[in-house]
Amino acid sequence: MKRVEGTICAEGPKRCYVDIVIKLPCPECGSELGHDFNGSYLSHPEVGDECNANFYCEKCDEDGKPCEYNLVVKITKYAIELEYDETSLKHDGF
Ligand SMILES: [Zn+2]
Repeated sequence: MKRVEGTICAEGPKRCYVDIVIKLPCPECGSELGHDFNGSYLSHPEVGDECNANFYCEKCDEDGKPCEYNLVVKITKYAIELEYDETSLKHDGF
């Protein structure tokens, strides 16, 4: 079992883009396949949920072989990362 960690990039839980790319060798031809969660979002992700990552092999498609794969991935952590500039602290008027 492999775990990867990324940060939630935009639009919150409805459309959750994450900077995680899963790369796997094609079971048929060995070409590197990739699924980019920053390109296809997770919808309302919850820890413990399973979702599908789709993979497409261009080489197998060209060779007329089955070319689409599906990987079940489990969400094991839900994290938010914050960033701020300490020097931008401003008086709020009170
Ligand atoms: Zn292939």
